[in-house]
Amino acid sequence: MQELTHWINGKHVKGTSGRFADVYNPATGEVQAKVPLASRSELDAAVADAARAQAAWGATNPQRRGRVMMAMVGLINRDMDKLAEALSREHGKTLPDARGDVQRGLEVIEYCINAAQMLKGEFTDSAGPGIDMYSMRQPLGVVAGITPFNFPAMIPLWKLGPGLSCGNAFILKPSERDPSVPLMLAELFKEAGLPDGVLQVVNGDKESVDAILDNETIQAVGFVGSTPIAQYIYGRGCTNGKRVQCFGGAKNHMIIMPDADMDQAADALVGAGYGAAGERCMAISVAVPVGDKTADALIERLVPRIEKLKVGPYTAGNDIDYGPVVTAAAKQNILRLVQSGVDQGAKLVVDGRDFKLQGYENGYFVGPHLFDNVTTDMDIYKTEIFGPVLSTVRAKSYEEAIGLAMDHEYGNGTAIFTRDGDAARDFASRINIGMVGINVPIPVPLAYHTFGGWKKSGFGDLNQHGPDAFRFYTRTKTVTSRWPSGLKEGGEFHFKAMD
Ligand code: NAD
Repeated sequence: MQELTHWINGKHVKGTSGRFADVYNPATGEVQAKVPLASRSELDAAVADAARAQAAWGATNPQRRGRVMMAMVGLINRDMDKLAEALSREHGKTLPDARGDVQRGLEVIEYCINAAQMLKGEFTDSAGPGIDMYSMRQPLGVVAGITPFNFPAMIPLWKLGPGLSCGNAFILKPSERDPSVPLMLAELFKEAGLPDGVLQVVNGDKESVDAILDNETIQAVGFVGSTPIAQYIYGRGCTNGKRVQCFGGAKNHMIIMPDADMDQAADALVGAGYGAAGERCMAISVAVPVGDKTADALIERLVPRIEKLKVGPYTAGNDIDYGPVVTAAAKQNILRLVQSGVDQGAKLVVDGRDFKLQGYENGYFVGPHLFDNVTTDMDIYKTEIFGPVLSTVRAKSYEEAIGLAMDHEYGNGTAIFTRDGDAARDFASRINIGMVGINVPIPVPLAYHTFGGWKKSGFGDLNQHGPDAFRFYTRTKTVTSRWPSGLKEGGEFHFKAMD
């Protein structure tokens, strides 16, 4: 069986802790590799080496750092198919989805080519007599990123692009469920010209995460994952004096107004609810049709579309709609929540509980589920299911619908489908959620805007990528300088020659 490694000082390095986690092929349920779980001392040693490498990298001019990003863009494009295949094999998502995962990360690397522009600072000429003032953005030193299983290329790249191009050294702790793609990305960064030691990939679990949070050299931590872990990391990281941003779970509502194009809304819901087996933080998991007529028209269109979905392994070709979920435990949790929905009185309109795939009986496939008549007290409404399960909550009015989304504890993404500009505008303005779609079901902002949720979906005050990332990975120093000797009355310059 393949034994994966850490990536330390520009090389693959075997783990020495003696602890490993199994990495599964979710389509077959087979263990295909084992990944080392770093000890505190392995993590601390990687950080110490990173700190030494950072001094020269931080002093490299930002245009040269941007050129490493430029080379990286070419290398990721060159290896796109290889990366996507490795990603699908460990995560389970379809190949087109895996390419999308790499592509959305790549776009942030493209944005970071422009590091010199982002870091050029501010200058005020003559802030007072003979006084100039300027602000510069300096790297923090060593920073860390802790990332989830569901986007093993995109989210590491969202962190590495800005973190590295700002001049920091980076400790990446990827998800232990699909660690191969982050290791492949580290190899590509070396090929792109990144000096050894500036990027260390340390595989691990809670032990290495706690070591990151307690290590005094690490200045900032960016986390993406579930909300309970986000809250834990935010609390412990901040207490230890670090800059911390944590992005958590979600329960994204899509409101369907009576005037919406129902076919378009149904198509959007099927893609956003079931794509990637619902394992996206921006998946729509709650449909809120306004009025019973709208709800009936929507359900009538959703059912045949959902029943046509093709579920299978990524190897079965590009017409597969979604693959398995990531682990046996994830599958059990989804089916447990589905059962709770039935027990608590929701109507299961499409029942995927008996789904089986011939030849893949040990894989973690879950059939699609659609619930109607879901109410806010049910577990399937309150909990992030992270599977192919869409809940329909019928609202009597627009006010009730927007109120549902506003009252939910999560605030990552939301959407409204309507032809009414007033309603769309009011929704975008009032909603207390970070990312909003108008007739767009998954409104993921592009690389040059920023990505982040509100309420229990985001902790910390700066978002991911876009200009916010350049603020997160640098600190501002402001210099006030005065050279009074050159000023003469009347403003004429007086130069006193030295003898
Ligand atoms: P997770 O919270 O289980 O794991 C995320 C990271 O935290 C991993 O690297 C893991 O090793 C580490 N971790 C796990 N348990 C830990 C513990 N007890 N102590 C310290 N570290 C621990 O999340 P996941 O299952 O990998 O990812 C799915 C979750 O991520 C979902 O909730 C999803 O909504 C969320 N997510 C959010 C965003 C966003 O931008 N808001 C994006 C993608 C995923």
